[in-house]
Amino acid sequence: MGDIQDKVNIDDKLFLNSYDVDTTSHLAIKDSTVCSNCNEKVCTFICPAHVYEWKDAKLIVGYEGCLECGACRIGCSHDNIDWTYPRGGFGIQFRLG
Ligand code: SF4
Repeated sequence: MGDIQDKVNIDDKLFLNSYDVDTTSHLAIKDSTVCSNCNEKVCTFICPAHVYEWKDAKLIVGYEGCLECGACRIGCSHDNIDWTYPRGGFGIQFRLG
């Protein structure tokens, strides 16, 4: 009998989704200096889609892959993410999986 991880692979499930990506981000950092001084950087590990990456002393936001789950908005210790849904017609289209 296989382990449950053999049966459910989150990356395989996410691969089934499709996106209609807007040209502007629906995720905005309110104040980048807050991120610079943030020790936790919760967004870089709470996001299931790995949208946030701390690189070269800067927060990179790859909004294109957002799953619209809202975890980053709730998880940010400093309430520093201006979170909205993508404009109508844009964003993720979930597939059964
Ligand atoms: Fe990641 Fe969810 Fe935030 Fe989108 S809403 S950036 S998927 S944590």
